[in-house]
Amino acid sequence: MEAGRVGAHLGAHRLAEAGDGHVAVHRFAADVPGYSGWEWQAVVACAAGSTYVTVNEVSLVPSQSGDALQAPEWVPWAERVRPGDLEPGTVMPPEPGDPRLTEDPARSATRGSDDARGRAAKGRRHWLSREGLAGATARWRAGDFGPDGDFAREAHLHCRTCAFYVPCGEPLENFGACTNEFAADGHLVHAAAGCGAHSETPPAGGDHTAGMPAFDDERPVY
Ligand code: SF4
Repeated sequence: MEAGRVGAHLGAHRLAEAGDGHVAVHRFAADVPGYSGWEWQAVVACAAGSTYVTVNEVSLVPSQSGDALQAPEWVPWAERVRPGDLEPGTVMPPEPGDPRLTEDPARSATRGSDDARGRAAKGRRHWLSREGLAGATARWRAGDFGPDGDFAREAHLHCRTCAFYVPCGEPLENFGACTNEFAADGHLVHAAAGCGAHSETPPAGGDHTAGMPAFDDERPVY
């Protein structure tokens, strides 16, 4: 410990859990850069029958004032990673026993499409599980391009009837890709979603400015 880093004695208390009452903690103010609100604690002990007091431990701990800057509780990397964290070059193997995957082709949610893909699926160890597919479709339904998204709520026509909607088919029978560059272009949209750029949206008719006061934007406003 560097000299000058230990301040005034703040108090002491016995450690009841030490049993014989011969262990105490002395608290000292700390003046350590970056440790505002922390204090030194020195644990001293005197063994029963002994006349010597020993210093057993010295540590820098957050004071009870609650002013200490403390690091957030450590969370293992596997629990910290979130959707969207994957970057080019990141390697993220699935966890062992990942419920989104199965090694049993009979339990695959994409069995039909795997058969259709033929050799592409050959030699692969994993298949998408029914749980994995159910989780994905639940997220998509609840997302921006689901039936309850902001666009869908305001839309008069659904994706299902839109020429820009390309249905996915099994096992995503209620989803398709939007091919409209002014709308959800390239995204998977739910058949019951929709937007104002639907292929059958009628042309805007009438003069929307009728009844509004004329505004001369060439005229100075001061
Ligand atoms: S243009 Fe709109 S209605 Fe048509 S598929 Fe795309 S999101 Fe759906």
